[in-house]
Amino acid sequence: MPLSACARCGKMFNKKSSPVCSICQKAEDEDMEKVRKVVADDPNLNAEEIAEKAQVDIRVVNRMIDLGMLVSSIELGENIKCGMCGAPAISATKKLCQACLEKLNAEVIKAQSQIKLEERKAPKIGESLTTHEILEMKRKEK
Ligand SMILES: [Zn+2]
Ligand SMILES: [Zn+2]
Repeated sequence: MPLSACARCGKMFNKKSSPVCSICQKAEDEDMEKVRKVVADDPNLNAEEIAEKAQVDIRVVNRMIDLGMLVSSIELGENIKCGMCGAPAISATKKLCQACLEKLNAEVIKAQSQIKLEERKAPKIGESLTTHEILEMKRKEK
């Protein structure tokens, strides 16, 4: 068994699956339970906000993320960046900043109205298109 430093108290211990030693395991479990409750209440919080709300060390949250115990929408940690321009994102799930979110919405509305106009020519294209498909079509037009 690999000897490893406990993530909570720093003591060396025989690491099995948990990153904390057996003495710290109880406290770790309790902290994780608090985190789970906070995340269940509000899945859009980032790691820092979760730690604050749950009143646990941010490292507990990060450990849970490392262990794959938290859903992907919060794995971004404290700095959620817009996937389009790199500005701070307002939505962890969409990874977009306010400006890009508005831009994207405007594009979708524009694309949707364009598609409506073309509906007569191509009757198969209708409301069932997803946002992704609409953007895909728009890209091809260019
Ligand atoms: Zn420990
Ligand atoms: Zn942006």
